[in-house]
Amino acid sequence: MAGPWTFLSQDKGFPMIIVLLGPPGAGKGTQTGALVKRYHLLAISTGDIFRANLTAGTPLGLEAKSYMSQGLLVPDDLTVRLVVDRLAQPDAAQDVLLDGFPRTVYQAEELEKFLASRGQKVDHCLLLDIQEKELTLRLTGRRVCRSCHSVWHLSFSPPPADLVCPSCGGEIYQRDDDKEAAVSNRLKVYQAQTQPVANWYKQKGLLRVVNASGQPLEVEKAIEKALSQGRPQK
Ligand code: AMP
Repeated sequence: MAGPWTFLSQDKGFPMIIVLLGPPGAGKGTQTGALVKRYHLLAISTGDIFRANLTAGTPLGLEAKSYMSQGLLVPDDLTVRLVVDRLAQPDAAQDVLLDGFPRTVYQAEELEKFLASRGQKVDHCLLLDIQEKELTLRLTGRRVCRSCHSVWHLSFSPPPADLVCPSCGGEIYQRDDDKEAAVSNRLKVYQAQTQPVANWYKQKGLLRVVNASGQPLEVEKAIEKALSQGRPQK
């Protein structure tokens, strides 16, 4: 099915694949929500899939749990299998936004192989760029709705006192991995394992860096501008 952005695709006629990269707390989830609403992309968020499995107590959730709560990455093989299976579903034959995947160079290579087997490629990689000191503040103050994933912040946009989500009635809580010890691990893991993924896409001439330190709406506009410029130059 052709989406509104198909004209940006490097292979006309194929659905577009966008990778959204950025350190934890850069606003990937918020921007994914905005882009999905506006452009009807299919968002595949590995973090959300793992969390949903964790809540449902599935074997996948149980396996991912200890890695997630420590701020570590879930093993590559498990994660790649999850995404490949999801991309192979019939409803993924449209423009897709990958949020939080790939997070290692191995995952990026496996994604490339899988897409190549279907005559597809990643069209754009967007990197949400933000200073590390801002991230710790954003993450440790973040509160989210367990059901609809709406986001609040204790300092910038406090949740209701009863911690009941006004949109869906779900419970507002602090993710285990937003607690201080896990946050510091997640930032280290990002630098060691995911930063090289940005370089990998840069080498391929696919990376666009977007300043993510502003308000969500400003970042949204910067993303639209980056995408409207077509494929980046090497
Ligand atoms: P996120 O919501 O994207 O910050 O992801 C939350 C957690 O899920 C991460 O800290 C990891 O433990 C796990 N996770 C999400 N995506 C991946 C991935 N691509 N590879 C490995 N682990 C992941």
